[in-house]
Amino acid sequence: MNGMASLPGFDQVDRPQREKISTCIHCGLCLDKCPTYRTLGTEMDSPRGRVYLIKAVDEGRLGMTPNFIEHMYLCLDCRACETACPSHVEFGDLMERARGQIERQAPRPLAGRLLRWLVFRGLFPHPRRLRGLFRLLRLYQRSGLQRLLHAVGVFNLLPAHLKDMEAMLPDLPPRPFSRSVPEYLPGQEPATRTVGFFAGCVMDGLFVDVHNATTRVLQANGCGVRTPRDQVCCGALHMHAGDREQAKALARRNIAVFERQDVDVIVNNAAGCGAQLKSYGELLADDPQFADRAHRFSERVQDVSECLAQEPLRGPLGAVPKRVAYDDPCHLLHAQRIRQQPRDLLQQIPGLELAPVTDADFCCGAAGIYNITHQDMSRRILERKMEHLAAAQPDVIATGNPGCMMQLRSGARLAGLDAPVVHPIELLAAAYEAGKKG
Ligand code: SF4
Ligand code: SF4
Repeated sequence: MNGMASLPGFDQVDRPQREKISTCIHCGLCLDKCPTYRTLGTEMDSPRGRVYLIKAVDEGRLGMTPNFIEHMYLCLDCRACETACPSHVEFGDLMERARGQIERQAPRPLAGRLLRWLVFRGLFPHPRRLRGLFRLLRLYQRSGLQRLLHAVGVFNLLPAHLKDMEAMLPDLPPRPFSRSVPEYLPGQEPATRTVGFFAGCVMDGLFVDVHNATTRVLQANGCGVRTPRDQVCCGALHMHAGDREQAKALARRNIAVFERQDVDVIVNNAAGCGAQLKSYGELLADDPQFADRAHRFSERVQDVSECLAQEPLRGPLGAVPKRVAYDDPCHLLHAQRIRQQPRDLLQQIPGLELAPVTDADFCCGAAGIYNITHQDMSRRILERKMEHLAAAQPDVIATGNPGCMMQLRSGARLAGLDAPVVHPIELLAAAYEAGKKG
């Protein structure tokens, strides 16, 4: 390993913290919960092995070699190891800091850097550009071009990851959610709270139905919903990809936006966004201007299931006679420790049967853009997930994260499983709709 010493090690900027590295006691209890270890069986693709590698770089015994980088990026950052760990190793934080070091100090080839810049800096931080992209994609879907390209088999000539990306694209709505509703939606009387709604970027443009379902259920439960127009992407993709500077910039903008709103809590319905919003306090802990503000912001963030669980659901709820397989999004279960609330909400729907799912706490392989960057591993993990979901014999699959929804839709199609994939809040909204009809 000493021969690698000429390769860069960690510098002092957002360095993985030594006290967090040293909490690993090498017990191995996390191994069986790690998707990459279960798939490959190699120590360096286990949480324990990765902590060991980070420790070796931290101590200067190893440089950031291509091998080190590969093991860091083969991790899904699903954080299942955190839930399993008796020593409370904050693995997600260690991994994200390690990736931040890699991206600053071990630059990729020019083409990779350019693509990353375009996606992470040129597109996601700019809502207007994202909306423009969504408009183009909708045109592509509606103009007949998509059908034509499929009919002539163009996608069979493209790299597999591009083909998969295209196949995962949901039907695009005419307008993003935040541009199709008033900025304030009143809660039904007696109104109890005003919630700030974090609409996100991908969710806002692609999952308008989920957002409409969310606001309808919140309103039915006495919550006024305020959706600030000037909010931006939460920065989760940036964090996972090691672009911590851009993640911080986005966090500062969102904090300032929601400080201007008179709201009691900040609600979201996407597990990945929620985990990121809740981490702003930690992310900006060293920023003298934002540390306290970020902490206060994060304390007010709630997943929609968490928010609704605080008071008994108002009725009337009509029947939704479906057998539902609920699959935990990693960033809801492992990063936010929210397991029971979505299940409790679903179980209150008359006629709905919750099917037991083996390894529901296991990653589906989506993991941000992992299903594009590590297609083979993602596919292997997804195949296993679909076997368990198929065994549950569901009419419907429910999960609360856009990436997971797209991944499971793709998995269901590949597995020939005839079950729509929805967000749990859509089932609740359907129950309210059925309740109105009596
Ligand atoms: S975050 Fe997930 S993939 Fe990465 S080491 Fe932990 S369990 Fe394994
Ligand atoms: S369970 Fe925790 S302490 Fe044990 S090996 Fe895994 S990361 Fe280390």
